[in-house]
Amino acid sequence: MRNSYKTTCCYCGVGCGIIVHKDRDGQLQVEGDPSHPVNKGMLCSKGMNLHYTVIEKGDRLLYPEMRYHKNLPRKRVTWDAALERTAAVFSSIIKRYGPEAVAFYASGQCLTEEYYVVNKLIKGFIGSNNIDTNSRLCMSSAVAAYKMALGEDCVPGTYEDIELTDCIFVAGANPAWCHPILWRRVEAAKASNPRLKIIVSDPRVTPSCSIADLHLQINPGTDITLHHAIGRALITEGYIDPSFIMDHTNGFDAYREKVMQVSIDEAAVQCGIPAAAIYEAAKLIGKAKGFMSFWTMGLNQSSVGVHKNLSLINLHLITGKIGVPGSGPFSLTGQPNAMGGREVGGLANLLPAHRVLSNPAHRQEMQEFWNSGPISEKPGLTATAMFDALHDGRLKAIWIMCTNPLVSLPDARFAEAALAKAPYVVVQEISRKPETIKYADVVLPAAAWTEKEGTMTNAERRITWLPKINDAPGEALPDATIICRFAQKMGFEGFDYPDAASIYAEHCRSTIGTNINIGELNYDLIKEQRSVQWPYVHGESKKRLFEDHQFYTPDKKAQIHSFDADNRSESLSPDFPFILTTGRIRDQWHTMSKTGKVNKLKQHIPEAFLEIHPEDARRLGVSTGDVVIVSNPRGKVQVKAQVSNTIKKGVVFLPMHWGHIGRSDLHRANNLTSTLLDPISLQPDYKYAAVSVARY
Ligand code: SF4
Repeated sequence: MRNSYKTTCCYCGVGCGIIVHKDRDGQLQVEGDPSHPVNKGMLCSKGMNLHYTVIEKGDRLLYPEMRYHKNLPRKRVTWDAALERTAAVFSSIIKRYGPEAVAFYASGQCLTEEYYVVNKLIKGFIGSNNIDTNSRLCMSSAVAAYKMALGEDCVPGTYEDIELTDCIFVAGANPAWCHPILWRRVEAAKASNPRLKIIVSDPRVTPSCSIADLHLQINPGTDITLHHAIGRALITEGYIDPSFIMDHTNGFDAYREKVMQVSIDEAAVQCGIPAAAIYEAAKLIGKAKGFMSFWTMGLNQSSVGVHKNLSLINLHLITGKIGVPGSGPFSLTGQPNAMGGREVGGLANLLPAHRVLSNPAHRQEMQEFWNSGPISEKPGLTATAMFDALHDGRLKAIWIMCTNPLVSLPDARFAEAALAKAPYVVVQEISRKPETIKYADVVLPAAAWTEKEGTMTNAERRITWLPKINDAPGEALPDATIICRFAQKMGFEGFDYPDAASIYAEHCRSTIGTNINIGELNYDLIKEQRSVQWPYVHGESKKRLFEDHQFYTPDKKAQIHSFDADNRSESLSPDFPFILTTGRIRDQWHTMSKTGKVNKLKQHIPEAFLEIHPEDARRLGVSTGDVVIVSNPRGKVQVKAQVSNTIKKGVVFLPMHWGHIGRSDLHRANNLTSTLLDPISLQPDYKYAAVSVARY
């Protein structure tokens, strides 16, 4: 006898449907949901082992813990004691230093309801906008670019376009490993449609290249040069759509002038690829009836991330390949609910339902909706700025929920030093393993994936409901419950929700009249339909946006932006001559709080490594398996070398997942990464750091 529950995978933004079976002893098993439109029963290695991540194996946090002084050990306390003291500390800091002296740092893995209440708490009631999430590190360049080009933070297409397209350009992404089930759909589409051509641009030969018709192995940081050159070739070879450009866009003349300034031959030299390959890419895109582009961190995590995004979106706008079946720009979301977080305004510069903080009317609307105090017009601290502010003393208290910045932030040793200086640290977590726990004055045990109810939105705007399937261990509570209880201890009204459904209902009401309108939606409707895509109006999901070619800009036209192909990343030098790029491996997830406890997932790649080109390795006297030291002024990493011609000469790669192993932090890639930010999105430049490499 067992019960079965339909839910959603809580790893990547593909958003696969899962059936969880619970037997009479409470043991969980998972399988892919054949009825789910995203994965049709398939799961990747991470999804197939998801049930192991919620099992308590000595790693789960079971009770609130607290200390009254930094020199004292934390002790188990009641929920009331932990939240009352934290409310007292927050109130006293706010009274003395103002509301900007406290901050919340959350996660794209939070459920929408959790995001909603913490955003409401700080913006509406505490009176500061100091909430940011690890989505800043992941998707914020795409968010800014979508708004600048299309007038709204929205992925225009749907996964069904994969089966309808005949050209997919994967730019700076390795979906074969990082979005595996989406890639299975691409492989299946290519197998059944030989006309489907795949272009991949990446300095590395990744598993995604195995089905590519064209791999553009560009130099790191040259994506804009490449996209501009493809744009130039599309123009000169007659592949653009003049009537779409004239009727539905602004900015083409300036764009044409800009891309004509660099010849294809010159661009090819800068990118480190043959000119013929650029013409070939333009031909594949130009001749295709449908053209999709997929991208992730290769474009987003850059000091020019927004321009990289815009330069790719431009290729859709000049060819008119957007808002039609099989076409459209499609950012692949790294986290399961980064989209849901943006929908409720869970970033330092946003308000719910994609309202913007800088708009006084939007602030007024939300203040009235929440019946709250005035919402500050000053943007809050973003992810990296929070740690700068801890370091220099402006920020007195930080509440970290559902993320481990001491592995994931760039220049992680600086982040660690900043957290060590923080007067008051709250860590809300499922696991006692993250490095943040060591610095916590208060530890709050949170419920995990199957232990709470809520919703998530995947990369194609698809909202699904996740049921509570089993009880959390010990006294762990759902994240939204913890935040609401804390808000009540602070004396704020409007947080006495009877259940998660009522939080969601309030969020849905806040979207009425906005572009993401889901005002009609509720849990019952989502459960009945299994999933819906926003906007959801008159009982219907909108699969594909802009089919009427009316964009969300004031004049309804998309904006083609023009800019130089600058690379603002740090410079190489004789002392630091290699470009370090970082990324994920197939079977690990972010900072390994969950995948790190599943033995099966350790078998694929058990430890961190440095991928290095054979010619560079030969020069350094390094062979595969030798220990190498990778260093720069921010720190060092010590791992085994993996010599491979899958990476460009002069470039080295480290996986981003590992943090401390015992007392050593020498496997942590982010000891080395750069804190340079994109000036618009404030997203860090993880993909380009100057380093030296030497044999140990
Ligand atoms: Fe989960 Fe992503 Fe794998 Fe699907 S592809 S099972 S959402 S990790």
